[in-house]
Amino acid sequence: CGIFAYLNHCVPKTRREIFETLVKGLQRLEYRGYDSAGIAVDGPKNGLKDEKNICIIKKRGKVKSLDEELYKKDQMKLDEEIETHFGIAHTRWATHGEPNAVNSHPHRSDKNNEFVVIHNGIITNYKELKKYLVLKGYEFESETDTEVIPKLIKYIYDNRESEDVSFSMLVERVIQQLEGAFALAFKSSHYPGEAVVTRRGSPLLIGVRSEYELSTQHIPIQYNNGHLKDEVQMKNNRNRSDSSCGLHSVGDGKAVEYFFASDASAIIEHTNKVIYLEDDDIAAVAEGKLSLHRMIRQAGEEPVRAIQTLQ
Ligand code: GLU
Repeated sequence: CGIFAYLNHCVPKTRREIFETLVKGLQRLEYRGYDSAGIAVDGPKNGLKDEKNICIIKKRGKVKSLDEELYKKDQMKLDEEIETHFGIAHTRWATHGEPNAVNSHPHRSDKNNEFVVIHNGIITNYKELKKYLVLKGYEFESETDTEVIPKLIKYIYDNRESEDVSFSMLVERVIQQLEGAFALAFKSSHYPGEAVVTRRGSPLLIGVRSEYELSTQHIPIQYNNGHLKDEVQMKNNRNRSDSSCGLHSVGDGKAVEYFFASDASAIIEHTNKVIYLEDDDIAAVAEGKLSLHRMIRQAGEEPVRAIQTLQ
């Protein structure tokens, strides 16, 4: 069971290179054990040149056989260069539903693959969620606990109050409904080139690679639904020399690559700059910029996550 995802922003890569990065990431996580593997990437829609949709390729068995499957898809235009792309990859250790291709990840919201998700862990309240979503007309194709997640995010998206709801806000609404353990990566055709990941109880970290010096050692957390108490804010200002925190974002529109993984062993060959996510942190990359989000700031909680250097 492992998650690996890769986003290149303004660093042109061929589709073949993107596949290779994803497969290599999965291979680094193989030691954790798994029974199936799968990936989701953007691909040409029905062979049409300028139209894209999300392609899901998944298989029971080894990463190696997934890899062979990827190269059979010559309609994927493997030599096409892509400036910005987000691909997700997963190895599954089945907990709910037997090991087979349908139960493998990524799971999807609907037949058009509007939202696709990979998950490590167990959603303990999936039966209630599934019952609710079935009543709302959603059709499930797998026996997994995971599949409620893409269905739920589509339900929230389709019922959103305003047009400009962010991808991370949708994910925040999703995890409010989830019980159990999870590391999740989301990809959506409604948010091309954007990534959202989150975790609770299962590990997840982010690697950052860029040609230039990162402008900050900390990423500020954006709190969506809570207000800072004055005393908490003052205390933190006194403790930190970097008072400009909150102004920078990693990436800032420049060429940058992000790697998301269950384990540092899949990241270290690309970069040694990493950010470990805490429970209920939501990380989003949009326009190449990484931002971190949480619901509410608890008293005494540091409102930043450090960019660490792996030795
Ligand atoms: N519970 C999920 C499933 O059975 C995820 C398992 C995993 O962590 O690989 O598909």
